[in-house]
Amino acid sequence: AFPSAAAFTPAAPAAPPSPATGILPSASSASSPTPSAPSFLGLDALFTNPVFAGGIGLAGLGAAAAFGRRALISGAGLLRRQLLVNIEISKRDPSYNWVLAWLAQPRDNSGFLAQRLTRLRNLSVITSTKSLSPRGEEAAAATGGGRIQADFRVQPGFGRHVVRHAPGVYIAVNREKAGTATTATGEPHETLTLTLLWMHRHMLADVFTQAHALAQSFQQGKTVVYTARKMEWAVLGKPRLKRPLGSVILDDGVKEGLVGDVKEFLKAQQWYTDRGVPYRRGYLLYGPPGTGKTSFIQALAGELDYSVAMINLSEIGMTDDLLAQLLTQLPEKSILLLEDVDAALVNRRQRDPDGYSGRTVTASGLLNALDGLAAGEDRIAFLTTNHIDRLDPALIRPGRVDMMVRIGEATRYQATQMWDRYYGDIDEDHSGRERFLNRLDELGLFGGDNQNPDVPKRHTSTAAIQGLFQFHKGDMEGAIKMAEGLIPRTFEP
Ligand code: ADP
Repeated sequence: AFPSAAAFTPAAPAAPPSPATGILPSASSASSPTPSAPSFLGLDALFTNPVFAGGIGLAGLGAAAAFGRRALISGAGLLRRQLLVNIEISKRDPSYNWVLAWLAQPRDNSGFLAQRLTRLRNLSVITSTKSLSPRGEEAAAATGGGRIQADFRVQPGFGRHVVRHAPGVYIAVNREKAGTATTATGEPHETLTLTLLWMHRHMLADVFTQAHALAQSFQQGKTVVYTARKMEWAVLGKPRLKRPLGSVILDDGVKEGLVGDVKEFLKAQQWYTDRGVPYRRGYLLYGPPGTGKTSFIQALAGELDYSVAMINLSEIGMTDDLLAQLLTQLPEKSILLLEDVDAALVNRRQRDPDGYSGRTVTASGLLNALDGLAAGEDRIAFLTTNHIDRLDPALIRPGRVDMMVRIGEATRYQATQMWDRYYGDIDEDHSGRERFLNRLDELGLFGGDNQNPDVPKRHTSTAAIQGLFQFHKGDMEGAIKMAEGLIPRTFEP
């Protein structure tokens, strides 16, 4: 049988606590002579126990501390939200690189910039190089040889930095990689967070204005060329010095006609808006290679203070989707240059006998991409090709191609102009020029314009003439003597 409840009631108060241990041998306390239900559970004894009570006290203190800490943290958070401003800049935003470059700026005489750098403990470096010819002139990197000049630009590395922007104005900078996300070019995604006191928030506008002005000053007098890198536009090398329009010599009136048309277009936004026509204009420059098509577009961009956004359609990996995507996100104030447009229009089966690989731009892909080329902004597109005969006639339609210009082999007019640019100062009576032009006639190099019936009618390119003049810099006799080198080499099996 079960024992009754009474059986559990202690018959008598237990012995007093042992002074040595202070631990009650039983649940009952000496101070509660008349045992009751609670005393049965021993709670009274528990609370009167100094060790237990001490424990409770400690736990209370701990709880209070934890609460205090949490209060402090949320207080600090509140304070931070109230007193500080954070601005996060994503690597995808154009201002990301401006602000980084601005942070790394060497200081001016106010002393602040110098301090800014010394305060940055964790720096990263960007190195750019260019080849110098043995005489110290800039040369195409492809020519090799020569010295290499390197430029180092220091910028804040990853982590936290504090910079002093003005007396008493500090900006905390935190540059970090944003998890495992990557940009469209496959680089890790990054963010830059600037934190400053709420009362200094007006300085942010200052920072961005200065950073933007700095970025622009880097590009002053230069032309930025963008090219497609994976899924997005990336700056190709360093901005190049603007090419003067005068340095590109096209046949009589051709350059003036093109430049005039583009400038008219840029003034006519209202006309397009009023008629609901997409504000864009397309030009097709065609003709043999080395006649100045690309050089002209570069120079035109410089003249208009525009960038060039360049895509070569024969590039491996360029697809319809990629082209369409790139054209919808053209950099602002840029001329679109689509090179080798004939590459898009070759029958795919011919190019790819093993079947469709999907890695090329198709004729319809190009047309669709061009038709999608419209935004609030002006859109100027230049298409180039060496093979006009391969183009889809659908391409030559207003809105896609509004103007077609053949840029051809060197004419007498161009040869004259180029001579004057190179030797005008030393050939005052133009006698050298006459001898040079006569020599080209003798060689039959002006094609149909050739005044010598005894030689085959052939042509030379402006690129070849430029090469000859550059080789004989300041030496017109040398140029005349070597003019034979302008005869195009033909392949003889
Ligand atoms: P294209 O695009 O027609 O193939 P480029 O513009 O690339 O020709 O010219 C190749 C090289 O020849 C460049 O270095 C350029 O300076 C020079 N060149 C060619 N044609 C001209 C021209 N009409 N005026 C000045 N330079 C020219």
